[in-house]
Amino acid sequence: MLNKPQTRTSSLIQRDLSALWHPCTQMKDHESYPIIPIRRGKGIWLEDFERNRYIDGISSWWVNLFGHSNPRINSRIKAQLDTLEHVLLAGFSHEPAIELAQRLVQITPSGLERCFYADNGSSAVEIAMKMSFHYWLNKGQAKKTKFITLSNGYHGETLGALSVGNVDLYKKTYGPLLIETITVPSPDCYNREAGESWKEYSIRQFEAMSQALEKHSSEVSAVIIEPLVQCAGNMRMYHPIYLTLLREACDNYGVHLIADEIAVGFGRTGTLFACEQADITPDFLCLSKGLTGGYLPLSAVLTHEYVYQAFYDDYENLTAFLHSHSYTGNPLGCSAALATLDIFTEDDVLGNNQKLATTMAQATAHFSEHPHVAEVRQHGMILAIEMVKDKQTKASFPWQERRGLKIYHHGLKNGVLLRPLGNVIYFMPPYVIKKSEIEHMARIAFEGIDLATL
Ligand SMILES: *Cc1c(COP(=O)(O)O)cnc(C)c1O
Repeated sequence: MLNKPQTRTSSLIQRDLSALWHPCTQMKDHESYPIIPIRRGKGIWLEDFERNRYIDGISSWWVNLFGHSNPRINSRIKAQLDTLEHVLLAGFSHEPAIELAQRLVQITPSGLERCFYADNGSSAVEIAMKMSFHYWLNKGQAKKTKFITLSNGYHGETLGALSVGNVDLYKKTYGPLLIETITVPSPDCYNREAGESWKEYSIRQFEAMSQALEKHSSEVSAVIIEPLVQCAGNMRMYHPIYLTLLREACDNYGVHLIADEIAVGFGRTGTLFACEQADITPDFLCLSKGLTGGYLPLSAVLTHEYVYQAFYDDYENLTAFLHSHSYTGNPLGCSAALATLDIFTEDDVLGNNQKLATTMAQATAHFSEHPHVAEVRQHGMILAIEMVKDKQTKASFPWQERRGLKIYHHGLKNGVLLRPLGNVIYFMPPYVIKKSEIEHMARIAFEGIDLATL
């Protein structure tokens, strides 16, 4: 018997709501807003069971780089599937994990020479934190137990990663469970004075970091930051000079620098890695999300040989890093990552992104004239629009009004998946989007802002 598309959708929704608990969702919302079962994806498009199509304007939570069902990534995974789907990575190894480690060492900032795998971003952050702490311990500096973080930062949802994050919406509830950190004000340039440049403001904000390092360095293991863009913190951005100053200061005070490029890595900000724009190498680099082109969960922490050597000793001395996840370095994930890196090598991805970034800027140039838009900001393939109640004072709409949700629904009705963060609308599309599709996305976003600010 043929299922009518309509029936199929409602039956899936019913089954979904009877058994599933969705991430980052107040499930009661789905009494008013139906969940959308997706039938398939192709390129930038997602298609539901009623043949509605949506531009994936946020790369399915920032993971997808080269579109859904990409033939080059598909075929590499299929070939790997018939060879080896998984094997433990302790005592054993496999070609995809080896090749990927070597290639990540090659393409990441120079000095990063060791690759430790995990299977999601939060775990990568926790690994970097544990490695940093453990490094100092192995070096006889047991007092270096703290982390310096930025206000408005985000590093994931597991308890350690949540501890070094600073977005209240996700963190506050779990406060009693978290480790204490030293938080300094973010260089977030949205807060700069009128007439002040991004660079001037970022330099000015560094003063607080400098003071925190001076005061606490003897007890601080590492500073952890998101280079250039605080993505989950409403796509707030800053100038690369902050990273240059931070690298210098971390060196002076004997503190590690952890760069969380889980969201901004792999070409998002214009360069392959955001750290390149400041010409710095962190002590630990966390990668995930785009690493597999948005196909499979995989993450990696890259670090230096000097860190590795601090753990390298006779077993009896108990200095080893005994951290593991069951799916560490999964061969299918590594193959997806290799195919993704191949695309970066074979195509002029960064050059093409430069054109797409210009198109995004042009398509949204007029947004800043909107009476409820305080700022349009951009770092490469991330463009964000700050919607405010009062343009002069930058007073924001109360969060309870959930105006972003109106834009989300307007987008869905018009074939675009936008998922505003509070009052910030942003574009973070796959790199295979076309000019006309960017223009459509911008048009719908502008209408959405109009509707949401009526
Ligand atoms: C998404 C994200 C994480 C967490 O990664 P998960 O795979 O969701 O655990 C950590 N840091 C940053 C900057 C992120 O954007």
